Amino acid sequence: MTADHGSDYERLGEILRSAADAAAAFHGGLAVRPVAAPDPRLEMLESLSATGPGAEAALANFRRRFGDRFSASAGPRYWAFVTGGTTPAALVGDWYASAIDQNVGAAGDSVATGVTRETLARLMQLFDLPADRFGGAFCTGGTAANVMGLMTARQWAGDRAGVDVAVAGLAAAPPIRLFAGCPHASLLKAMAILGLGRDALVPVARLPDREAIDPEALDAALAATPAGVGKIVSASAATVTGNDFDDLERLADLCARHEAWLHVDAAFGLFARCVPELAPLCAGVERADSIAADGHKWLNVPYDSGFWFTARTDLAEAACRLDAAYLDTGSPEPPWRNRAVESSQRFRALPAWMTLEAYGAQGVRQVVRDNCRQARLLAEWIENSDAYDLLAPVRLNVVCFRALPPAGTDGDAWNRDTLLRIQRDGRVFMTPGAWGGKSGIRAAFSNWMTSDGDVGIATDALADIAADQRRGA
Ligand SMILES: *Cc1c(COP(=O)(O)O)cnc(C)c1O
Repeated sequence: MTADHGSDYERLGEILRSAADAAAAFHGGLAVRPVAAPDPRLEMLESLSATGPGAEAALANFRRRFGDRFSASAGPRYWAFVTGGTTPAALVGDWYASAIDQNVGAAGDSVATGVTRETLARLMQLFDLPADRFGGAFCTGGTAANVMGLMTARQWAGDRAGVDVAVAGLAAAPPIRLFAGCPHASLLKAMAILGLGRDALVPVARLPDREAIDPEALDAALAATPAGVGKIVSASAATVTGNDFDDLERLADLCARHEAWLHVDAAFGLFARCVPELAPLCAGVERADSIAADGHKWLNVPYDSGFWFTARTDLAEAACRLDAAYLDTGSPEPPWRNRAVESSQRFRALPAWMTLEAYGAQGVRQVVRDNCRQARLLAEWIENSDAYDLLAPVRLNVVCFRALPPAGTDGDAWNRDTLLRIQRDGRVFMTPGAWGGKSGIRAAFSNWMTSDGDVGIATDALADIAADQRRGA
């Protein structure tokens, strides 16, 4: 029997319930299943069928072929990269966004554009950013947020020289340089996308044993830059391994003095602002010209979700304006399509709105606080272990460490082997890290579900692995 879309639609409730059951079963196993898929490869591709069996059979086929071959990246012991999970409320918001399928890029016919505005206002409240200074928008993640920040800075650099870069192009604009101490790789990608070029980066010296910019060196570098060059300072809050924060107050002062744009890549570090004892790390971010942040990391909304803020929405809208008579609905809402690469836009605010509505500021604060405590717990265990050694100081939610090789053994090869053993073991997932010229292992805590007990499971695994590795097992 073949099914058509119509008969699927008549049974929509039933179909959604079976999808919900499948999703709940997946989540039910998250805390106990291996953290990485035992067999992630897909060797046999099945070709397109002429007539499909309908949604429910498609879901069954999907589960049969791929069901147990996903990672537990949404779970409590997936500590690779900086990986958030999804809170129940965020998951519901994401599903509902698909169900109602609003296009936020087109305003005027739906409250979705207003909910987007409310969600951004709530985020500004959460991060203690002045709402009268900043506007913003949702985007797909930290990289897109960095693209938008630098695109706005590029427009600003042209504007100061009387050039509308969006109209006349980069060829008519003054040269632009980006100053940074420890830029995330996505900033270089953003520079490539925006036509600034990766070579426009001016690396600035860092403070000793830090990933933070040396403000004296930045002062000198900006002073040495010829007048007429557009200067963008890209600050970190925080770096991905050392979790270092640039001194944003000092940098804001220097940018004011040297007429430079201050962009802050705060993909996950912005969340330090929710916790009183961590907030000083990120002091001064409210003086930035643009700020990039991620939703799918510490806010724990599903992929893909990012947001960004700027004090110059006028320039952002000039940079990526989309004009067409058929799109002019006369809505009083901000034109979200003019603040993003995407013209048609998913209702990306809804999962974030749901999570903020359900758990409030205190809910987000608790996750950040817990994750930072868990990072310290792991670091303390490592410091007391004779099989492992801490490589970098723990400032926030990331631990970078190293397995101690037996005398006469190559340390890097030993660590690669340790990491492979950790990944094969399946109790906890980590990825490579590097610090001070030494390669190591990196664990990042950003999942709402992670408990102190999960740290115990991980340290048990690390102890077992060290014993096996030393026995040559
Ligand atoms: C993750 C991250 C990015 C990139 O974000 P995506 O969401 O992966 O695009 C940029 N900067 C920092 C500091 C990050 O941690």
